[in-house]
Amino acid sequence: MNDMRHVTDEMRLKLAVQKSGRLTEPSLDLLARCGLKLSRGKDQLVGFGENMPLDVLFVRDDDIPDLVQEDVCDLGLVGLNVLEEKRLELASRGHSARFQPLRTLDFGRCRLSLAVPEGTSYEGARSLRGRRVATTYPFLLEKYLRERDIAAEIVTLSGAVEIAPRLGRADLICDLVSTGSTLQANHLREVATVLESHAVLIRTPLDLPPATDEWVQRLLMRIDGVQQVRESKYIMLHAPRGALPEIRRLLPGSESPTIIPLEGCADRVAVHAVCREDVFWETLESLKKAGASAVLVLPVEKMLA
Ligand code: ATP
Ligand code: ZN
Repeated sequence: MNDMRHVTDEMRLKLAVQKSGRLTEPSLDLLARCGLKLSRGKDQLVGFGENMPLDVLFVRDDDIPDLVQEDVCDLGLVGLNVLEEKRLELASRGHSARFQPLRTLDFGRCRLSLAVPEGTSYEGARSLRGRRVATTYPFLLEKYLRERDIAAEIVTLSGAVEIAPRLGRADLICDLVSTGSTLQANHLREVATVLESHAVLIRTPLDLPPATDEWVQRLLMRIDGVQQVRESKYIMLHAPRGALPEIRRLLPGSESPTIIPLEGCADRVAVHAVCREDVFWETLESLKKAGASAVLVLPVEKMLA
């Protein structure tokens, strides 16, 4: 709490988050794991950071790049798909994007894909020649077609892209996909990926006052810590000294483990290690085969490199 003492209102960081959609819950979860306590009245557009000089503005995801680039917000959490579309749109008007990506985040994974109605053949990009492609991402699609030297008609829609072929408005679509169930429900078949996407943390191009910038750095360090521990496990086991090289080889993504002698057992030791990847049953079985016993796998709650 002492950290908050000298922070005046204009020094508070403003972070834009999607108001209601697929990025909202994972974004707020990330901030909570970074230690942010947010007070937010029902339907309020601003959440107040109680223990950090940081407020969250809830907005439409499409507005986030502009809000950050126009310096209304200092930071934003938004999909790469939205960012890249915006970057290309700005370029088409002779402007360059001024928002700066700070971190790739481990949520919001999806891909912008081309999908054709079931029963339609597709033999690579040349099958797109002269076809009508419905999308809400005209600039990303235009770049994809241009890079392949394909002339096709882009039908720009503001939503409900997946029903465009059925309505006769397009021959195929270019839309976001994660599991593919929406495509399946609409009798569409995914045929090519235009962009692999994930959530990104972006910042304003402008310099921030040092005290504010220090909070950006602290937030980044915490985000790195949170992302690292999501998969990380702490492993403890007993092993014969002779099996240590094999056991170290089997521990997934671990740096030097701690080796502790066991009282009254000259040839057995305890091994403690942080594994930066998930530990699966198969790994435990191999460890046991290599001579390990008393194997414990614990989740890691926080990590600071
Ligand atoms: P808004 O009202 O904020 O404009 P929206 O309808 O554009 O909402 P959502 O469908 O909530 O947005 O998706 C927000 C972001 O979530 C997408 O831009 C994308 O980065 C990500 N996302 C992840 N998986 C999917 C998916 N299966 N379909 C669509 N978006 C996805
Ligand atoms: Zn949107």
